[in-house]
Amino acid sequence: MKLADRVSQLKPSATLAVSTRAQELKAQGKHILSLSVGEPDFPTPVFIREAAKKALDDGFTRYTPVPGLPEAREAAAAYFNRYYGVNATIDNIILGNGGKHCLYALCQCMLNPGDHVLIPAPYWVSYPPMVELAGAKPVIIATAPEKSFKITPAELEKSLTPKTRLLLLNSPSNPTGACYTGEELDAIAQWAVDKGVIVISDEIYDRLVYGGLPSLSLCSWWERYPENFVIVNGLAKTFSMTGWRVGYTLAQPELIKAMTRLQGQSTSNICSIAQKAAVAALSSDLKEVETMCKAFERRRDLAMSIVSTWPDVVCPKPNGAFYIFPDVHRHYRERFPDSTCLCTFLLSEAGVALVPGAAFGDDRCIRISYAVSDEVLEEALQKVAKVLFA
Ligand code: GLU
Repeated sequence: MKLADRVSQLKPSATLAVSTRAQELKAQGKHILSLSVGEPDFPTPVFIREAAKKALDDGFTRYTPVPGLPEAREAAAAYFNRYYGVNATIDNIILGNGGKHCLYALCQCMLNPGDHVLIPAPYWVSYPPMVELAGAKPVIIATAPEKSFKITPAELEKSLTPKTRLLLLNSPSNPTGACYTGEELDAIAQWAVDKGVIVISDEIYDRLVYGGLPSLSLCSWWERYPENFVIVNGLAKTFSMTGWRVGYTLAQPELIKAMTRLQGQSTSNICSIAQKAAVAALSSDLKEVETMCKAFERRRDLAMSIVSTWPDVVCPKPNGAFYIFPDVHRHYRERFPDSTCLCTFLLSEAGVALVPGAAFGDDRCIRISYAVSDEVLEEALQKVAKVLFA
């Protein structure tokens, strides 16, 4: 079959491909330790599930308004207002099918062919394809593990052209777990305002920060410069709700209306039942989130206590999300000359599923998700070490 050009070159999402392969091997009875997909291993908190059950029992099973139920949009706006001190209203919010779909829709609504989008690497796997699907050009800017994988305005400036339209920023970062400080974020935001570059701030991991660091958002910059900033968040990581597919975008009303038109012609509203669950989640006091966050912090410390002893491996200690991204390239050799070959080898020979750094724009590294039990984490890391240092 002749496929459209836009999909014929489209690669599958590496994160989802590796985790699907791991599940297939498990189904064949193989002992597989999967540290691949970024998915909390906790069940969705009971009070959220109860809200969904009630919606179902009440027969709340029909179409809702395209951008979401007013009460769900209100709850998302209230989240930003409560935690980040802004004055968002429902006109600033649209619910999408996960943060991922919000980002996709934003690219569709904001980019024209030939536009440039600045993407600091390592980046989340889906950013460049989303930009390309909108006909625009991803401009990848490398960062270094030695600099905690962070970008500076001076580095961004070097890639600025008259065609630069967007900067895709993600803090805490997938795949590195790096967190920008408030000052660093302010410097980047000010640079973007000065240069007329619009920042899409992917804040899906905003609640998962460690060591007493505050959750940060660029939404106060959005409030001051509504034309220059767009904020994306969602329930998947914060509330352990990956399968529910609830994301939300905070932006100025004109953009929300454009996204609503796009959504009305493509996916319509997101699941009505999930929206009722979202109201419960976003209106809650985040106590259960804090418990999950503490568990992730402990696992980060466990993972770091092991990986930091690995010789010739550089792995900055991350302060957020649930990934570490060690630079292991000094151990590449004939059997695994790059991150993709290494991860293929690890899966087939050691039964450990990891995502190659190449998928995130840094072939020196491998991504390890520590959103798994301590036992799985320890056993998997031992096996990785055995392969790396054999
Ligand atoms: N964002 C998660 C990850 O990076 C989930 C999978 C995906 O959508 O990429 O593993």
